[in-house]
Formats: sequence, C-alpha cells, structure tokens
Amino acid sequence: MTCLLCGQSLPRQFSFTDLLYLKKSRVCLCCSCQASFEPIGPQHCPACAKPGQNELCLDCHYWQEQGQVVEHTSLYHYNEAMKAYFSRYKFEGDYLLRAVFSQDIKLALKSYKDYTLVPVPLSPEGLAKRRFNQVTAFLDHAGLSYQELLGKKDGVKQSSKTRQERLASCQTFYLTSRQPLPAKILLIDDIYTTGATLNLIRQLFQQAGVKELKTFSLAR
Ligand SMILES: [Zn+2]
Ligand SMILES: [Zn+2]
Repeated sequence: MTCLLCGQSLPRQFSFTDLLYLKKSRVCLCCSCQASFEPIGPQHCPACAKPGQNELCLDCHYWQEQGQVVEHTSLYHYNEAMKAYFSRYKFEGDYLLRAVFSQDIKLALKSYKDYTLVPVPLSPEGLAKRRFNQVTAFLDHAGLSYQELLGKKDGVKQSSKTRQERLASCQTFYLTSRQPLPAKILLIDDIYTTGATLNLIRQLFQQAGVKELKTFSLAR
C-alpha cells in the first residue's frame, strides 16, 4: 500500500489496536502527511471553532448582529496541507481522496446520534463539473447515512467571490421535499470559511420550522 497523498509506500505491519479498531485513516496516509494536518485544539472560537482564539471571532460577531446563532464543530485547521488536499480532492477531482478523513469524520459524528445528517449540495453546474459531491463522497465512504434535503441553484461560485460578496450573498439553496423535516439537523460541509453558506441554509431551515440546527465541517 502507498500513501494516498505522496505515494510513499506504507509499512505493512499495523499495530494490533489499529487492526482491532479498523483505523483506516491510519493506513491510507504516511506519518509525515498525517502530521501535516493540524487538528483544532481546545483553543478556538466557542461558536464556530475558528482555531487560535478563545473569544467570539469577527465572523461570529457579524452573524450575532444578524440574529444568527452559530453552533459549529470542525476537525482541522484549514492550513497549507489542508488547502493542498482540497485542491486535489475538489478541484482536480481525485475521488480516491474521499477516504483520507472519512474515519475521523465517522468518529466525530458519533456524538450526533439523534441528528439527521444533511450534506451541503452542489449546484447542477458544479456537480457536472466535479462529477461528485465531495461531502456525500466522504459520508458514503464513512458508511454514514444522510438525507439530501437541499438543492442549490446555479450561480456564481462561493470561492470566486470576495469575502464581502460572500457575506452579503443571497439565498441560492432550496428544500427538495415538502415532507416534514427532522427535528434535529446537523449540516455537513467540507470547509467553513466565513460561515455564509451554512448560515444561508440555517435561515432556510429556520423558516421551515426546524428548531435545532448545528453545523459541522472537516476544516475551518
Ligand atoms: Zn504521504
Ligand atoms: Zn467564530
């Protein structure tokens, strides 16, 4: 087996506990690639998990002024290694890389057992271009079930907008079903930047009567 990111061959011997708990995340990356990702430690914004501060961050102050309550969890810093990972996974479309963090995500989502997982969708244009949704791809790989309750209209991509434009962007998401919605929803995204995407969706679910909505992303 080789490291999914750098291609270096991996040692064949796994420890007994790795085998016991089937720690797949341990066996698809070499040690140095694994070490290049920084888990978000105890010091982070209490609302959105932004690393490196204990106070409410500027983005969360903005959302508070808009009357939005941010309750976000994230696993890793969006550092250079994470940027490089997402550039290969999303923009070069390397589908195999869905496996890299799927076990971390599975483990983290165990504490949301009574929540319905809802992935952030791509627009039809985005999906045609990328050929897969990077969020449902890692959820599928982790063996987690979810409900695709959202659709996204075609439009300007979030990543090509400036920070100001992202913060001010208007609703591009819609509900795909008229069925009653689950009481507790955990929205899943890949990267949390300003919180604009997740807060747009939060507004949509709030208007539809969902009382409890939390959000989760792999990186922040
Ligand atoms: Zn490697
Ligand atoms: Zn924050």
